[in-house]
Formats: sequence, C-alpha cells, structure tokens
Amino acid sequence: MTETNELPVTVVQDRTLRVKIIDACGLACTFCHNEGTPVTTDNLGREAARFTGTPGRSGRVSIYLATNGARFLPERIKADTDFALALAAVRGSLPTSEVHFTGGEPTLHPELPELVRIARRVGMTVGLTSNGENGAAVLPDCAAAGLDRINLSVFGTTPEELAAVQAPRLASPTLATRKLDALAATIDTASRHGVKVSANIVIPDHDHVARVLRVIEEHGRAVTVRMLVNLEDDGTSLAAMREVVGRLGAVPVRRVVTAGASDQRIRYRLPDGRTLYAKSIRPVRLPDACAGCRFDEEGNCQEGYYGVRMYRARNGPFMVGVCIQRMDLCLSLGEFVMSRRCAEVRDFRVEETARLTALYAPASLAR
Ligand code: SF4
Repeated sequence: MTETNELPVTVVQDRTLRVKIIDACGLACTFCHNEGTPVTTDNLGREAARFTGTPGRSGRVSIYLATNGARFLPERIKADTDFALALAAVRGSLPTSEVHFTGGEPTLHPELPELVRIARRVGMTVGLTSNGENGAAVLPDCAAAGLDRINLSVFGTTPEELAAVQAPRLASPTLATRKLDALAATIDTASRHGVKVSANIVIPDHDHVARVLRVIEEHGRAVTVRMLVNLEDDGTSLAAMREVVGRLGAVPVRRVVTAGASDQRIRYRLPDGRTLYAKSIRPVRLPDACAGCRFDEEGNCQEGYYGVRMYRARNGPFMVGVCIQRMDLCLSLGEFVMSRRCAEVRDFRVEETARLTALYAPASLAR
C-alpha cells in the first residue's frame, strides 16, 4: 500500500477570500465557531466588552468568543455597490481568484444570487459552505448567477445523530428529520443545476467511524465526500480517518497542499472509482501576525493560518481578519489593504509556493 508521505504532491497557491455574508442560521450546532464573531441576535445592544459566545435565546454558540477579542457584530452583507467595491479592493491588493461565502447559513441570505452575480462580475469563482437547510429554494437562481460549488457540512445521516449536536432548543428528532430532508433536496437540486457538491464530515474519533461510512454510502454517489480532522485533534481523529480509509479499501493517489494557508488534503480512489478526500491542517503560521501568539505558545492554535476572511461590521465598515481565534487582529478593509499585514499575507503565499514547489517537485517528477 502506498504511504501517504510517498504520494505525488500538487502545490496550489491560496487565492481565496472567505466572506461571512450572514449571521442567521437555522441550526444551533454545539461546536460552531461562527467564523469568530458573536451571534448577532443574542448580543444586540451589548457593548463589545460584554459580548458572549455562550448560548443566548437562539441557542447558538461562538466557541472562541470568550478569548478571541472580537469587537464587532457581523451584519448581513447587502448585494450592492459597496460589496462590489470591497471585493475589488481586496482583489486589487491581494491576488484573489475565488470568493467563498460563509455564515451563519448563506442559503438564508435573501440576496444570495445577486451576491454571486456581483462576485462573478468582479472576476471571481464563487463557492459557499452550507448546512443544506435551504438549498433547494435558492440554488437554481444561484446556479444561473454562476455559483460554482457548494460545500455541505454534514453532521449525521439520522435525526438522532443531527439532534445530538444541537442546542436543546433545536434537539428534536422531528426538526432534525426536516433538516435532513432539506439536505437531501439541496444535494439533488445542486446536482440538477450543475453546481458541484461536496460533503464535509468531521471525524472526532473511532466512535464516529460508522457514521462517516454511512454518509459515504448514502451521499457518496452524488457528492465528493471530504473527511475533516477534528481541529482539536490529539491523534484520535487522524486514526479514525485511517480506519475509514482502511475499511473502504480506499487507495491514496495524490496529496494537494495549499501554499500560503494551512489546508491540505489527500485524494483517495475508492474501489468503485469514486473519489474521497481526507482534509487536515498543516501547522502554518504567518511570520509576523502569529509571532508571540499565546494560543500557539500554549499549543492551542487549532486552525493554523487558514486564510483571509471578510466581514461587515454592524453599523460599520467591512472588516478583514486572519484568524478566528484572534479577532483582535481584524482591521477595517481600508486599513487592511494599506497595511503591512496585507503585504505579509501576499509575500507569505509567494514564498510558501516557491518553497513547497521546490520541496515536492523533484519527488513528483520522479513518478
Ligand atoms: S493562526 Fe496565528 S494568530 Fe491564529 S491562533 Fe494560530 S498562531 Fe495565533
């Protein structure tokens, strides 16, 4: 069997901007990082110093909020000239070819097709991450507007599995059944309208192996399944991932490394020819922004440097951040494009691309 460290490697430079377009969500997952921001509806009227990430009336959480220094509430981004100009400003200062919409739940945004259209006009490929609860209603218009792909976060195949990771307010099997039906309808709608679909599944440990195998069995024909290592992994998540691979008889064929961000994945071929990805985090740090970070020193940097994120502050400017555990590093868009941090991100991408290409090219060429 091929060892994964012997695989041919493709190095792809990070050129993605993640944009949080909405804070609302119809689920209340107990592990949600909410892109680093407070849950708006539960924190309205509070001073920044009193923002809380623990469940309010909505039941939703923002798991890093107690320590990440977030000082603004996220606002729904309007499909207007300001948004087009914001995308163009990022693009003008940082090579960016792809925008990835996040939330909250992006498919609840009433102007989602128009946001897609704007990003396409600015010259970007558009993807989004979704829990699948509203895709059937909005994906036909999004596809017509140029949406390229949807990454679905899949938490279970049974109502009990989904309900088990919801806040008490939403932990009803009836509601979970409705959400799972909606997820299936989203997959079907996306496939019929030519939008690529992938399903992201986190595997915390061995106990979740059977669940992941069921997801692959149930959805694997219509979607590309991507297994994700738990961000707090101490080795058990990776071991569980290996178990899934072994039980499926999947053969590793290539490693894909994103240069300038922490994402990497291994592509596997299943015995029936389908593709499966195992996604994990490389220990990537920005040279200056991450220097002296207490989370890193405590061994608690969970995502590594994952890329650039944009938000709209409530009653304020667009904001740009580089870490959901360090929202204190966010700058207004105007500050960011003129800043050393923007140059740092740009230079880091170029340097990592050169370094990793030199590191892996000989091995790849030898095969
Ligand atoms: S990515 Fe950088 S800033 Fe964020 S937690 Fe890790 S070391 Fe700290």
